[in-house]
Amino acid sequence: TEAPRWEAVDRYVAERLIPPDAALAAALEASHAAGLPPIAVAPNQGKLLMLLARMQGARRILEIGTLGGYSTLWLARALPEGGRLVTIEADPLHAAVARASFARAGLSEVISLQEGRALDVLPGLVDEAPFDFVFIDADKPSNPDYLAWALKLSRPGGAIVLDNVVRSGAVVDAEGDANVQGVRRALDLIAAEPRLDATVVQTVGEKGWDGFALIRIADAT
Ligand code: SAM
Repeated sequence: TEAPRWEAVDRYVAERLIPPDAALAAALEASHAAGLPPIAVAPNQGKLLMLLARMQGARRILEIGTLGGYSTLWLARALPEGGRLVTIEADPLHAAVARASFARAGLSEVISLQEGRALDVLPGLVDEAPFDFVFIDADKPSNPDYLAWALKLSRPGGAIVLDNVVRSGAVVDAEGDANVQGVRRALDLIAAEPRLDATVVQTVGEKGWDGFALIRIADAT
């Protein structure tokens, strides 16, 4: 298997291109110490999110699924002065760990953590909209609903990234589990929505074989 080399390449890339960042490292350590599951994005993936948000010129970012705030901190690194990030987390322990990490990073004023189930929180975000960039990374069966909300809360020309869409190849299994169904239904919605244009980038590395859907919302007509 090539799998061990995936991690070696992750480390090689990180050593060359991803300088140490005390706030990011501390967020991972705090998540580990609190017993949170080790399911944050990998460093090279976090940096990808940061670069995409910056390429997008994002000033307002929405994240669904905070965990311990690792991807949140990467996304916050993309924001210009005066930028704002809203992140949603249902689990009180995850939210508490993330809040502490945002405070440690000096970003409590920039990042607004909304604690609750995303489908309860999202309707209340209309006042914070429109967002320039949305990262969806929570419970996968709800992906179709999150995608619809992301479209509703984004500006024309906005970008949406949906995580974990390949699932070790299980995405091609029409009879897959509820997570696979959530991904497949979201991709079907994208395909059927004329305002959305998208592709999937498959990824390998320390998180195994997975991928991101990269989605762009059409400009205003
Ligand atoms: N984005 C994080 C990162 O890369 O650092 C990882 C997020 S983790 C994969 C998914 C998170 O979504 C978990 O912390 C989980 O508690 C949260 N979650 C699950 N269902 C949710 C829901 N209905 N509403 C909000 N958050 C939810």
